[in-house]
Amino acid sequence: MKSNGIAQNKKTFFLPVLFFMLLLSETFFGQAAVSKLKITPLADDFYIYTTYKDLDGTVFPSNSMYVVSDKGVILIDTPWDESEFQPLLDSIYKRHNKPVIFCIATHFHDDRTAGFEYYKKKGIPTYSSKLTYDLCQKNGNVQAEHYFEKDTVFNIGNKKFETYYAGAGHTQDNIVIWFGKQKILYGGCLIKSTENESLGNIADADLNAWEGTMRKLIKKYPKPHYVIPGHFGWESNKAMQHTLNLLTKK
Ligand SMILES: [Zn+2]
Repeated sequence: MKSNGIAQNKKTFFLPVLFFMLLLSETFFGQAAVSKLKITPLADDFYIYTTYKDLDGTVFPSNSMYVVSDKGVILIDTPWDESEFQPLLDSIYKRHNKPVIFCIATHFHDDRTAGFEYYKKKGIPTYSSKLTYDLCQKNGNVQAEHYFEKDTVFNIGNKKFETYYAGAGHTQDNIVIWFGKQKILYGGCLIKSTENESLGNIADADLNAWEGTMRKLIKKYPKPHYVIPGHFGWESNKAMQHTLNLLTKK
């Protein structure tokens, strides 16, 4: 199975990056060791949930989001850690008294898609772009049940959002999700947290295209209230510019 790019042969490259992140985030990792699922309110009806994976002895966080609509809960990306697939559903039901009714992933890596099969079995409709659907198959990752061919607007209960593909970057297929009314941009792994000083896992990245993709994205969504990166903190709404800076620095 293609994992989140931490394949054996990439260890040599990736270890210094992890070590650097560890140095930056010592306090954070201390906390992460005890929590397996962390739910953080973002704005009315919007919650970031974080799951963790131990990569070579370092606990690494992965951000996803869920949104509460009047009809049920929308899941944006699945937990990375499979032991949290069901606890996430339970926590959501306990907090909001509503089931998850929709699940969408923003690229093919397993920190986005790992839960597709499980949620499909639970009767939750799962979605990805056609490109993500194809890349999941090619890389031995679980696929969504449904796919869309181009940028799509979804209306789920009283929540409306659009998917946008600005081009390749972290992967060929990375899309973002935009909630226009709330000005919340869910960037996933295309966008690096301002806490990160490197591009992280670039095993499947298109480093030539990424800069242009970021410029397109910044132009399309110039003034978001929140920008959610795939990993680490989302306190700054400047994460798009930060990612562009990382890509253009010498
Ligand atoms: Zn990721």
